[in-house]
Amino acid sequence: MKMEQLYTGKAKTIYKTDDPTKLISEFRDSLTAFDGKKKSEVDKKGYYNAQITRKIYEMLEAEGIKTHLIEMVSDIDMLVDAVEIVKLEVIVRNIAAGSITRKYPMKEGTIFENPIIAFDYKSDEYGDPMLNNDIAVALGVSTYEEIEHIRNIALKINKILVDYLDERGILLPDFKLEFGRKDGDILLADEISCDTCRFWDKETGESLDKDLFRQDKGNLSKAYEEVARRIVPEIFE
Ligand code: UDP
Repeated sequence: MKMEQLYTGKAKTIYKTDDPTKLISEFRDSLTAFDGKKKSEVDKKGYYNAQITRKIYEMLEAEGIKTHLIEMVSDIDMLVDAVEIVKLEVIVRNIAAGSITRKYPMKEGTIFENPIIAFDYKSDEYGDPMLNNDIAVALGVSTYEEIEHIRNIALKINKILVDYLDERGILLPDFKLEFGRKDGDILLADEISCDTCRFWDKETGESLDKDLFRQDKGNLSKAYEEVARRIVPEIFE
């Protein structure tokens, strides 16, 4: 099934398949932060993130959100629709954490009355700068209509995810989404995992995500396993 490598990113490698409309996304154990300046390998990270993404995407599909997921072809290999990636990183925030607390007078832990959606330009060369609708349109990255559509899907995903995770004892301060175009439709692409979300334990407030790596503050492998135990308990049976 897996054919030539199309692209290798910081945590996933994309392969062609014998069907040009389908790709395989392989979740690797490698991990980076700070624009790739900090690197590491964590045992089973790819496995946990692949399984968490698979479960969340299946749950979102059942709620009417279209995703690029077709099926898992191994524990870490996800067969996905080949899409044209929209060059926007869609950041959704419910509780102040991370970069927003450094850029604005917002104290970590502040709960936002309304979720915040912000867009970063997906460009390693330019360091993923934040942009607004006018800049995205001027760059030719998207259209006003498409941005509005993406914003609405992101808000819907947020609502579903916050409740889903709450039932599993997890708070969702913020996360990042990516979307792709296929046959005139917008599909949720990329991943939703411990690498792309902030997950805080509801009881202790403890981080269960990549912040443990960014800030050297605990056992990443254990935390990812804990999230997997709550979201995909069946893989531990
Ligand atoms: N995020 C991501 N990839 C990026 C930038 C951000 O997955 O390239 C996620 C990050 O894990 C967090 C949210 O988006 O859940 C908001 O990130 P933030 O802007 O606070 O950046 P950070 O503080 O992580 O550098």
